[in-house]
Amino acid sequence: MEPKIADGLRAIVGDRGLTTNATRRATYESDGLAHVRQVPDLVLMPRDTRETAAALRFLKEWNVPIVPRGAGTGLSGGATPVAGGVLISTARMRDVIEVDSVNRFARVQAGVVNVDLTHACADHGLFYAPDPSSQKACTIGGNVAENSGGPHCFKYGSTTQHVLGLVFVTIDGEIIDLAEPCVDPLGLDLVGVFVGSEGLLGIATEVTVRLLPVPPVVETLLAIFDDLDSACDSVTDMIAARLEMSAIEILDKHTIDAIEASVLAAGYPQNAQAVLLLECEGSDVEVAAALRDIEPILARHGAYDIRRARAADERARLWAGRKGAYGAMGRIAPDLYVTDAVVPRTRLRELVRATTDICEKRGLKVANVFHAGDGNLHPNICYDRRDKDELARVLDAGDEIMRVCLAAGGSLTGEHGVGLEKIEGMEWLFSHDDLAAMCRVREAFDPKRRMNPGKLLPMRACMETRSAVRPNEPRNG
Ligand SMILES: Cc1cc2nc3c(=O)[nH]c(=O)nc-3n(C[C@H](O)[C@H](O)[C@H](O)COP(=O)(O)OP(=O)(O)OC[C@H]3O[C@@H](n4cnc5c(N)ncnc54)[C@H](O)[C@@H]3O)c2cc1C
Repeated sequence: MEPKIADGLRAIVGDRGLTTNATRRATYESDGLAHVRQVPDLVLMPRDTRETAAALRFLKEWNVPIVPRGAGTGLSGGATPVAGGVLISTARMRDVIEVDSVNRFARVQAGVVNVDLTHACADHGLFYAPDPSSQKACTIGGNVAENSGGPHCFKYGSTTQHVLGLVFVTIDGEIIDLAEPCVDPLGLDLVGVFVGSEGLLGIATEVTVRLLPVPPVVETLLAIFDDLDSACDSVTDMIAARLEMSAIEILDKHTIDAIEASVLAAGYPQNAQAVLLLECEGSDVEVAAALRDIEPILARHGAYDIRRARAADERARLWAGRKGAYGAMGRIAPDLYVTDAVVPRTRLRELVRATTDICEKRGLKVANVFHAGDGNLHPNICYDRRDKDELARVLDAGDEIMRVCLAAGGSLTGEHGVGLEKIEGMEWLFSHDDLAAMCRVREAFDPKRRMNPGKLLPMRACMETRSAVRPNEPRNG
């Protein structure tokens, strides 16, 4: 890349805000979709909205791809700079700007780590509800871009339900200030358009989020099963019975074994074929009523033991095991392909089986740990990306899993986004006209499609829209 570009950017963000060194740039070559890698030409770390805007205004004349990045925990390749260019990281935007405990909102810089936000408001008796299992690392900006979920989104809804405002910078360096917390926005809901846009519409620099009161009573249950099918069926029945729970997670035998052999050992019984991790929150009366209804359903489906966490540290350990499951699977194989699909909750048993069969018939080892209450499956395929044949089988299995879940009335992704991993699948799910409409929204913000090229929207669909890219424009996707 032109040395003049680095010089111009250095003048804006200073030496510490720019990485040109090849070894250090290589650490940004992929996210959690580890088999696709491309080193960015430059890595920029602005400190705030103003620096981000100045950098994007400067870069406009150079016509290079721009890739936003939070912590790089994404699992669909969203932050991988497939077309090279300048990767803009929010790693130096880590301030909690304001916690307004009366009006129950917080304003944070986009690089604030999810769990740090909850820590920052704990003294006020408040918390931020969306809790991805990666919450100790992932950023609020990344959560916004992916519309992330998490175990407790079963009760509280995903990120989009908790974002009240935003400041973002467009590809041209214009600052769009929508930070004022707005419960019912007038006019077009641009915040709603931005959430889930996977870095295609601009770079979020500040986010205003809803905070909720910490519930007075929390009960965590671990229900233990002899088989995975029965655990799935109990979830279907609990949903049908309209029971009030805040989280319903399933972990299968492979996952339990990996966790129990790791430093995160949570006390999950190793002779179980599956466990359900359930949580109920609310007043004494509400929680007691929910537990009264839940326990008979679990017992009817063959849960042979139902344990209640006796104290906060036991509850924390049960959750640490669940949230550390992907890391623990490093014991099984060096790489993990975390698939992510949504299926109707009435068909959990059948589709968990189908996805497992898809992997096993290709000789792949799969471990299931998933947000069962949301019907959000995560068949996690353990593999070694250096083995090209195995990698090909993994990708083939991932494709078939997507097709089977879509055919069952599900969706492409529950929470990890489309990124570059599922971009082809967009054409299976959406019509030509649907995709063209999405491309036009993108082009209203970024006519040349320089922001995060190669993600979310298939190139073919975008090329066919009104302002198709001019043929001699390099590397735009
Ligand atoms: C162990 C593990 C567990 C996980 N569990 C969950 C889970 O329970 N639920 C869930 O939803 N996801 C989960 N994920 C996936 C991932 O953590 C989330 O998608 C998360 O929101 C990504 O945040 P990040 O800061 O790492 O973003 P990155 O990976 O850096 O980026 C993700 C996307 O957001 C864009 N982006 C990042 N920051 C900005 C910004 N400021 N402005 C505009 N675009 C931006 C990037 O371009 C990219 O497209 C998990 C991942 C791992 C590794």
